[in-house]
Amino acid sequence: MPSSRPTKIAVIGSGLMGSALARAFAAAGHEVAVWNRTSSKARAVGGGTLAFENLSEAVAGRELVVVSLSNYAASAELFASQAVASALAGTTLVQLTSGSPADARGGLEWARAHGVDYLDAAILAYPAFVATDYATVFYAGSKAVFDRHHETLRAIASNSVYVDEKIGSAATLDCAILEAYYGGTLAVLHAAAMCKAEGLDPKAFFAQKNSFLGLISVTADAAQGMIENNDFSGDQCSLNTHVAAIEHIVRLSTDARISSRFPRELLENYRRALGAGLGDKELPAVFRTLERD
Ligand code: NAP
Repeated sequence: MPSSRPTKIAVIGSGLMGSALARAFAAAGHEVAVWNRTSSKARAVGGGTLAFENLSEAVAGRELVVVSLSNYAASAELFASQAVASALAGTTLVQLTSGSPADARGGLEWARAHGVDYLDAAILAYPAFVATDYATVFYAGSKAVFDRHHETLRAIASNSVYVDEKIGSAATLDCAILEAYYGGTLAVLHAAAMCKAEGLDPKAFFAQKNSFLGLISVTADAAQGMIENNDFSGDQCSLNTHVAAIEHIVRLSTDARISSRFPRELLENYRRALGAGLGDKELPAVFRTLERD
């Protein structure tokens, strides 16, 4: 049964995210130790947290140890210390550092070898959103370990999503969402640059936000079914027609002398699908050309 009893937690890393996580746990009534390589940042976390100079002392006797560092290599470096590894034995480590599925698998291997319960996690939020309804955290690993700490972990995000037992699954989902986010954002910014270069106030484009977001949403729904059934046929718009539309975007960009890198990359990807004989299929058919390099 999940419980919201006060828990002894340590948060390793007092960067922008680690500080926000530590304060959120403390605000929820937990006893929070913080440690940071640059100790002044740990002391600045505040919010009722207790800063430690020594990492082994910070994590010793803690039920939950949450890690938020720049990358997995930084935590591997810290955990290479025998004293730190011994202090962590018997605790649950929640790795909230962003990484790849391979990083997560490496983390689990280390944890198993050192008697540590391990959840690999990914947070989808800016620090200001931590502990609000806008924060989502994905968790992967043992469901029993997740269930044991679920209620405590809700302090940083009420939307705590258990993804799968496969340890790389939270990182995979995070990378998938981030790709859609960064790719989509670049497209939006390039679109605004096209408008500006053609003397159209980008406001006109942003005012149509709901129309392009709606199109992406409809296409994502259609793609899901098509991928599941491995059937990309349809009667809405062929890839041949879509490719012609992308050619207009490249031409506008080139004529207006703005960067055409992004639309050219798009065009190359979609043309590859034509080359693979998918010209009469619907847009999501490009998926078939992406499954293998
Ligand atoms: P940050 O402010 O740059 O903090 C980085 C932290 O990592 C600092 O505590 C830094 O310590 C520590 N660090 C780096 N290398 C180290 C090493 N070799 N040994 C020990 N400590 C080391 O970054 P952040 O924004 O908090 O991000 C932390 C994690 O959260 C990242 O994995 C990031 O992808 C993830 N994340 C961040 C956001 C966000 O909006 N900020 C959103 C989602 C996920 P020092 O202070 O001593 O340099």
